[in-house]
Amino acid sequence: MATTIQYFEHLEDLDSESKYLVHKAKETTAFSYAPYSKFCVGAALMLDDGTVITGANQENASFPLCMCAERVALYAATSAHAGRTITKLAVVAHKKNHKELAAATCCGACRQVLLEFEARQKKPIEIIMMGEAGKWLKATANLLMPVSFGKESLE
Ligand SMILES: [Zn+2]
Repeated sequence: MATTIQYFEHLEDLDSESKYLVHKAKETTAFSYAPYSKFCVGAALMLDDGTVITGANQENASFPLCMCAERVALYAATSAHAGRTITKLAVVAHKKNHKELAAATCCGACRQVLLEFEARQKKPIEIIMMGEAGKWLKATANLLMPVSFGKESLE
C-alpha cells in the first residue's frame, strides 16, 4: 500500500479493478437524488470476495439530512456483509444533465467515516477519485485524514 497519495493523468493508467469500480460508480449516479445541488454522485466499493456495493447521494429538503454516496455505499456494505473487508472504493460525480465527470473528492465527513472503517477492519481502503484538471488520485483514508479523531481519542 502506498504511503503517499498517488496521482494518475488518465483513467486508463489505473489498475483494472479501480477502472471497473469507477465504471460502476458512474452507472450509480443514475440513482442519485439531487434536486437541490444538481450534483449527482455515485460510489462503488469492492469487498474482499469481489462483491461490489454501490451508493448514490440522497438529498433532502432539510439539508443537514442529505447523505453522501460514499456513506450510502459503506453503510449498505456493512449492513449486508458484516465481517467482510472493503478493499477499494471509487467515487465520481457529474452535474445533472452533463455527461462528463466533475472533479469530486470525498468530503471531510466521509473521510472520517472511511477512517473508522479502516480502523474496524484493520486494513486500508484504496479510495479512487477524480481531482482537479481531470487527474485521478488514489489514497487511503489514513492519508486523506491525517491527525484525526478516532476511537483511541475516547480511551
Ligand atoms: Zn461525503
